[in-house]
Amino acid sequence: MNECIFCAITAGQSPATIEYQDADIAAFRDTNPQTPTHIIIIPVRHIADLLGATEADMPTLGKMLMVAKQLADKENLNDNGYRVVINQGLHAGQMVDHLHLHLLGGKELGPIA
Ligand code: 5GP
Ligand code: ZN
Repeated sequence: MNECIFCAITAGQSPATIEYQDADIAAFRDTNPQTPTHIIIIPVRHIADLLGATEADMPTLGKMLMVAKQLADKENLNDNGYRVVINQGLHAGQMVDHLHLHLLGGKELGPIA
């Protein structure tokens, strides 16, 4: 069993509602959704956080944003808008040490912090 819960999901060792998967990127529903649409988008390769990302990860980081955009479109979020978030480290409340984007939408969101 993989120690990283998000790696376990991409390895098929832990269940998740997968919304997108290719060799580089996976996306799945958050188990504790904060908004009607709450999807987590990750690199398949384990990168602990933004600090752990390097220039070599630039294509993957860009692709994560494009997958967020595609999923937002699929979730019909374009008209009313949505938010894409990275929680980095302690003060941002990062809980899972595998770099991820949150795609949040489906209701009006408050100020960013
Ligand atoms: P963070 O605070 O690290 O940015 O967010 C981690 C997110 O992952 C949280 O919104 C949390 O609900 C979600 N999460 C934690 N464990 C699991 C899991 O096992 N499966 C899924 N689908 N989401 C998870
Ligand atoms: Zn991982």
